[in-house]
Amino acid sequence: MDVTPDEFPTSAYIGGAWVTSKDRFAVINPATGRDIASVPNLTAEDARRAIDAASAALPAWSAKTAKERAAVLRRWYELILGESEALAQLMTAEQGKPLAESRGEVAYGASFVEWFAEEGKRAYGRTIPTTASTKRYITIKQPIGVVAAITPWNFPIAMITRKVAPALAAGCTIIVKPAEDTPLCALALAKLAEKAGVPAGVLNVVTTQDARGVGQALCADGRVRKLTFTGSTEVGKILYRQCADTVKKLTLELGGNAPLIIFDDANLEQAVAGAMASKYRNAGQTCVCANRILVQAGIYDRFASALAAAAEKLVVGPGASTGVNLGPLINAEAIAKVESLMADAVQKGGTVKTGGAKDAAGSLFYKPTVLTGVTADMDIVSQEIFGPVAALIKFETDDEAIALANSTPFGLAAYLFSQNIHRAWTAAEKLEAGMVGVNEGIFSNEVVPFGGVKESGLGREGAAEGLDEYLETKFICLGGM
Ligand code: ADP
Repeated sequence: MDVTPDEFPTSAYIGGAWVTSKDRFAVINPATGRDIASVPNLTAEDARRAIDAASAALPAWSAKTAKERAAVLRRWYELILGESEALAQLMTAEQGKPLAESRGEVAYGASFVEWFAEEGKRAYGRTIPTTASTKRYITIKQPIGVVAAITPWNFPIAMITRKVAPALAAGCTIIVKPAEDTPLCALALAKLAEKAGVPAGVLNVVTTQDARGVGQALCADGRVRKLTFTGSTEVGKILYRQCADTVKKLTLELGGNAPLIIFDDANLEQAVAGAMASKYRNAGQTCVCANRILVQAGIYDRFASALAAAAEKLVVGPGASTGVNLGPLINAEAIAKVESLMADAVQKGGTVKTGGAKDAAGSLFYKPTVLTGVTADMDIVSQEIFGPVAALIKFETDDEAIALANSTPFGLAAYLFSQNIHRAWTAAEKLEAGMVGVNEGIFSNEVVPFGGVKESGLGREGAAEGLDEYLETKFICLGGM
């Protein structure tokens, strides 16, 4: 085994070399609070070296045929799958999610590599009927060039593969700056990529605690033609501004404030299962987690009781322990945010139906919580909770539900539960969101476009759209015919 939880790369990866540094920072297991490793704390200067390496590798990599690149990606996919158990354990150790979810994420992350290995072969251009008998019009798709990726800690593998795989499939080279909380999965992926035959400089991983300095270096450099970012809206806006001077193409997957609407005619069992999956996965730390659960008056009490009963069955504990389905939050700030949102909601009249406090499992654990009587003036309604708290808001009419759902600057995911196809379709059309789950709490996979509208971001990841983000369209006019 190349990568095991006890033996994995702890050096950064630039230009095909494993790079060390005297200045290092610790990676902490959020379940135990203990250090599990340290990685190099690289600088803006190192980031520029990574851009040098990615620029040098670009001509040869982009000149390969899509089929040649696909063969390398396919090997990477198989190596990731071959190490899935070790990767899952590594993920649980540095990120905290239950092992079953980590295993799921390794498969989900790998699926992007498989998909884009294949999709890269289908970067078709067009022939356009001419407007002049002496001319012919053709478009071709070409790789955009060097790409920079800045990724979050909540999906330490999938948020990297869904950027790196399409970039590499398209013929781009890439520099990844992983989140400081979860650099080990990124380095493990790089090691497997190296083993798969990804040439030196095509994939680079820069670990750092200086996200700001490294981010600035990546944004300011004109050789980087695209920035792809997943993280908070606040940081996304900084990066958007920073990319203006070099007019980079951008993909931004930012924060959400997902509404999950339960209409009176919903199948209760389905609605509870959907809300559970959407709310408590990764302890509520995903950008598509249901943030506001809007429940129609006629089903409100029944739904609240059924959801609380289901939440109480969740087993809280370290992700590596058998049977656990709710792990710790990522760090102390995350717990403090949930506590402050809860205090505000309760002070403004919210009722804790279940949970509502830290769990005895450790300092970063929070009980699965159901809060009823939630109203629009509470911070929990306008802010992304990123914790295991289900906030239930009561509504009367369909129009009221849609208006409430859309009354946010965000527009990533939305969910609705109804047995009436006309009602469901109408609501799905009216919801201001990039993705809508109808009678479904989990919908993301490699073949569908993931992304948001409004302040939730720009562009899409996964699907054919995900490849296009790394391609430029060139129009060629053939004259003198
Ligand atoms: P979260 O709140 O989920 O941690 P962030 O947006 O803070 O989301 O972090 C997502 C990624 O953005 C991480 O890799 C983090 O290091 C990086 N990041 C944070 N601040 C900046 C910044 N000013 N410039 C560039 N990257 C940043």
